[in-house]
Amino acid sequence: MDTAMLIGSRFEAGTEIEENILNPKTGETVLNLPEASLGQIDAAVEAAEKAFTGWSQTTPGERSGYLLKIADAIEKDALGFATLEALNCGKPINAVLNDEIPAIVDCYRFFAGAVRNLHGPVAGEYLPGHTSMIRRDAIGIVGSIAPWNYPLMMMAWKLAPAIAGGNTVVFKPSEQTPLTALKMAKLLAEILPEGVVNVILGRGESVGNALINHPKIGMLSITGDVATGKKVLQAAAKTVKRTHLELGGKAPVIIFDDADIDAVVSGIRTFGYYNAGQDCTAACRIYTDAKVYDKFVADLSSAVSSIKFNLADDTENEIGPLISKRQRDRVESFVARASEHKHMEITTGGKVSGDKGFFYAPTVIAGATQDDEIVRREVFGPVVSVTRFTDVEDAVSWANDSDYGLASSVWTKDINRGMKTAARLQYGCTWINTHFMLTNEMPHGGLKQSGYGKDMSVYALEDYTAVRHVMINHG
Ligand code: NAD
Repeated sequence: MDTAMLIGSRFEAGTEIEENILNPKTGETVLNLPEASLGQIDAAVEAAEKAFTGWSQTTPGERSGYLLKIADAIEKDALGFATLEALNCGKPINAVLNDEIPAIVDCYRFFAGAVRNLHGPVAGEYLPGHTSMIRRDAIGIVGSIAPWNYPLMMMAWKLAPAIAGGNTVVFKPSEQTPLTALKMAKLLAEILPEGVVNVILGRGESVGNALINHPKIGMLSITGDVATGKKVLQAAAKTVKRTHLELGGKAPVIIFDDADIDAVVSGIRTFGYYNAGQDCTAACRIYTDAKVYDKFVADLSSAVSSIKFNLADDTENEIGPLISKRQRDRVESFVARASEHKHMEITTGGKVSGDKGFFYAPTVIAGATQDDEIVRREVFGPVVSVTRFTDVEDAVSWANDSDYGLASSVWTKDINRGMKTAARLQYGCTWINTHFMLTNEMPHGGLKQSGYGKDMSVYALEDYTAVRHVMINHG
């Protein structure tokens, strides 16, 4: 197992306090990893600074070549990466191997192509005797901070557009899930020039805080909690750094009376519980037309009770545990508070599962109303609430009545109705008759307190590059 941080071309261990890295399936320690010192953080930033001049002057074609090599190397060692990610996050091995790794490999390949195909306004003589042109140039050093729910994928979403755009990076994985980032560090050091990507370890309050306040960093990219995003903004304000924020979500799902209920049930069974609901786009806040409410709740509860987890044969598991005891306790406390209200009913799940690890049974809470905490706050666990509506206007206004604005979906056989509703939803993404589906060609990002950075797609390349105007006087 790779355990060293990458600073320039050096692999070294942190020198500060140790973080206990756990296997969420058993609660047992995998290993302890010390975090970076302030000196090591400075050294990583200096290595990125030194690499910037050369890297930012490579051609898009050259950078594309590096990205393709990274993609090939991950693909070649797919099982190694998947096994490590499954160990550190508790994810079912098949979910990582068959869903995540191909999407991660494709992310590097997408940006390898996209950076060679950037478009912009036409160069020309907008002032007589002067030619103007638009450039898209690298910003500088990107300080990149990732969460624990999809460690390797978040690393890909952050690294690929940043280095494609000619930036250099100091990357910090979540202190809870650093193992695949350390394996990536090894791979990146073999492929990329020294210092283009540096990987440092540590907690948010110490290493993360030092990184976001570092004067030499030009851009901060973070995926995490809204509260963390606000701290990043405060730090960025001091030196007016560019920020790229991907924060939480509480995705509404509107089910009309003409929807194909079997398809919705199967969709929510998957998209509400994937990754044990630790997903900022999880289909967790459902509004169902009263005409189909009873059937939907009954069918969904029965379907969710069949989700396979915590089985000895991991290839059978559909979802894993929560990432930590703390996260499981948090999920448990949300459900406990909901169950104190008589108007809500827990129709399946609602309990901790197993005596080892951090499992929580997939849960449906029916009868929730708009003001309930379970409808308003992000749980980030395998818990879906269902709310009944009789007026479509209520459904749309309740769906929009949220601090979050990342993802949403509408289910109906009437495509006009679906399109009209999608147009009114204030979310970075609205799916019609599906949920959760992502593709590297399309952007992922939010509105409101879900943040405003776009991952994937050419919009990410725009976020990670600066638009510049160059004008030539004909003399
Ligand atoms: P978190 O905010 O606690 O941690 C995220 C990262 O930020 C970690 O690496 C952490 O060390 C770091 N961090 C924490 N405090 C910091 C500080 N003061 N300064 C600098 N860095 C700091 O979030 P988490 O618990 O790891 O992840 C779950 C959250 O991430 C959820 O709210 C979820 O919705 C969100 N998320 C959003 C997206 C998206 O695309 N919008 C994707 C995945 C996760």
